[in-house]
Amino acid sequence: MDFQNNLQFAQELDAADALRNYRDAFHFPKVNGKQVIYFTGNSLGLQPKKTKKYVDEVMTDWAELAVEGHFHAEKSWWDYHERLAEPLAKVVGAKTKEVSVMNTLTVNLHFLMVSFYKPTADRYKIICEEKAFPSDQYMFQSQVKFHGLNPEDAIVEVKKREGEQHWRTEDIVAKINEVGDELALVLIGGVNYYNGQVFDMETITKAGKKVGANVGWDLAHAVGNIELKLHDWGVDFAAWCSYKYMNSGPGNASGIFVNEKYLGKKDISRFEGWWGTKKETRFLMKPKFEPMENADAWQVSNPPVLSLAPYLASLKMFEEVGMEALIKKRNKIVDYLEFILHEIDKEVDSTFEIITPTERGCQLSVFLHGQGKSLFNYLMDNGVITDWREPNVIRLAPAPFYCSYEDMYRFGQILKDGILEN
Ligand SMILES: *Cc1c(COP(=O)(O)O)cnc(C)c1O
Repeated sequence: MDFQNNLQFAQELDAADALRNYRDAFHFPKVNGKQVIYFTGNSLGLQPKKTKKYVDEVMTDWAELAVEGHFHAEKSWWDYHERLAEPLAKVVGAKTKEVSVMNTLTVNLHFLMVSFYKPTADRYKIICEEKAFPSDQYMFQSQVKFHGLNPEDAIVEVKKREGEQHWRTEDIVAKINEVGDELALVLIGGVNYYNGQVFDMETITKAGKKVGANVGWDLAHAVGNIELKLHDWGVDFAAWCSYKYMNSGPGNASGIFVNEKYLGKKDISRFEGWWGTKKETRFLMKPKFEPMENADAWQVSNPPVLSLAPYLASLKMFEEVGMEALIKKRNKIVDYLEFILHEIDKEVDSTFEIITPTERGCQLSVFLHGQGKSLFNYLMDNGVITDWREPNVIRLAPAPFYCSYEDMYRFGQILKDGILEN
């Protein structure tokens, strides 16, 4: 499609947008009394207006039923999490039984590493991407040390090539083959938080499995953003947070995926608690753990219902819209944003560079060669909510649920003024 950098054209795209009505289903912050242009749905998604109703419902049940709410609330609490599994399975391409909701992301990755990182004297190495999200780096280091190993030896980072801004699949596969028999685990962020790159999860998973390693994915920036087929790809495990593209609120509950081949097993290594034992006999308070037949076996504690309520509200919206429609709009709005960036670059003779490769989801990361943090501050002061990553990168993620084409056009105008003034 031939895009145009003008207001009328942007408004025409909005008028033809099948998701246009969803914009009004979210709360937008305001700066100087004006609704912001929100580019940080990759960091904290906006609040859906109907979320409050889901939270209030739990608060009312708690007030009126107290402990009876566990079994007698309309959405009973003891199995509240089960309502999330089916819509969530659709978002990540899994069978319903392969998905569960609990804890928070890094916590879940640690729990899953207990099951899927079991180093032996010969096979103990972990492959990850260089400069992985810091929480993941700390997790790898502490896990490796917990097993009495040396992080410098056990953690193998795949690097980008000199002068390149993204990883090549062939380099990751080559590293997997090189480490080969020593490789215990591949665990990478499915979409890189910094450059927005979408990894070829299918190819990498197959390569890892071929050399006998387990393969897991941190899907923080992937879930609700890109098409996932965790089951079909043969992924062993994955986890994600719900507060980025999933719009479930700050620090909210995480989801996990465990491949069905590990379900119902009693001999798996796992840290266990009472919510992972069979629900039929759970309240008999028996001493022996009998795992749930689904991914709920990894649940440890009783569900944090006040956290699950916003997640459920959000999943209802994802179910209603479907990933296909979201991805369709995502592709177009990101293309339009890219077009706008190039137009502005030409107009002001600036020197910014999009470092996100063509394998991308919602995010464009822009390296500012000429301008510094003053431009970022100008954008924020003028109602463009974006974020800054050192040394000189702004990340722009126009979430398809609530961002408009007009936002992209207006952003371009503010960016142009900001470059001229800074
Ligand atoms: C956002 C993010 C996290 C956050 O972890 P929490 O445990 O939810 O704080 C972890 N990993 C990646 C790749 C992320 O992008």
